[in-house]
Amino acid sequence: MILKDYSKNLMPFLADLEPDEAGPDLKEVSRRYEIPQEKIAVLSRNENPYGPSPRVWEALKDVPLNRYPDSRPFLEALSNYTGYPEEDMVTGAGMDEIITTIVRLFLGPGDKALIPVPTYNLYALAARICGALPVYRPRLPDFDVEPNVPDEIKMIFLCSPNNPTGNSLSERSVREIAESTNGIVFLDEAYAEFAENDLLRLVRDYDNLVVGRTLSKAFGLAGMRLGYAVAPEWIAEQYRRIAPLFSISSLSLAAGVAALQDQRYMKESVGKIVGEREQMRSMIEAFPSEGNFLYFQTRERSSLVAERLLGQGIVVRDCSTFPGAGEHCLRVSVGTPEQNDRFLDAYTCGW
Ligand code: PMP
Repeated sequence: MILKDYSKNLMPFLADLEPDEAGPDLKEVSRRYEIPQEKIAVLSRNENPYGPSPRVWEALKDVPLNRYPDSRPFLEALSNYTGYPEEDMVTGAGMDEIITTIVRLFLGPGDKALIPVPTYNLYALAARICGALPVYRPRLPDFDVEPNVPDEIKMIFLCSPNNPTGNSLSERSVREIAESTNGIVFLDEAYAEFAENDLLRLVRDYDNLVVGRTLSKAFGLAGMRLGYAVAPEWIAEQYRRIAPLFSISSLSLAAGVAALQDQRYMKESVGKIVGEREQMRSMIEAFPSEGNFLYFQTRERSSLVAERLLGQGIVVRDCSTFPGAGEHCLRVSVGTPEQNDRFLDAYTCGW
């Protein structure tokens, strides 16, 4: 047999990719530390511990599974929720799919995308998948972003509230950035419902601003993979030309419609999480946060602290894997009161 090296067909930019982490294998953690799997508190993915509205389970019963999905009822429900017409909205299998699709509209080999760091790792990965180059810019000491954008930048990724730092951007910063660039601004508002204010209304004012959202967080549907974006009509139109038609399953779409129709449930769950967040924050001296998570500094290396918490069945996010975050920061998601207490007991006991 002739051995050939087919790997030279791989695209060269793959060598620079830093894949994001899905988190530790819970089975493995359970075995290694002898902790039953159901006792492990996963506080590393910013999920909603309360899950979705009970109406979601009802809605799943009658979904015709032999048919391809129809996303129109979901778009209609989103239009009611956001106040934007359906033409200005696009949907995807999680906001992750929106991000990895929208970059293909604007970024090609050698193009540059500005990414204030630390922030959500997928922006850099998505840019690199197109052969583009992420330009990391450190945030200011209060985690705000500098408003001036270099000329050659084609896309700017903003995140408000920002993952992992938790701060929201001011309306002024986002306006200044949108006005000072010829590029496209993607504003990720995955955690908007946990914040005091959101900036969705700005899409009306700018032809270069797209706001991404998700039902993974406040609506408790991370497993269903439901994301959307509100965009100027010209971008939404182009997006629909390249996006996969049927990437959101019929079950997920039905779940999304039911969840959006029960905003009372969503607001109650957000209220509980925000209340817990503020209590936890004072105890661990975390930075102010407008998301469903807290970002805090550790005296020892964050990887050591995260490993020690893991040994007690508590999974937090070691932020040393976020470019620009350094080696001394952790992020913990707000869980149920019991999970939060377990985390606080373990973390504040000082070992
Ligand atoms: N943006 C940010 C800032 C996130 O933290 C996440 C999820 N961790 C996402 C987008 C992706 O959300 P989705 O589950 O909708 O893909």
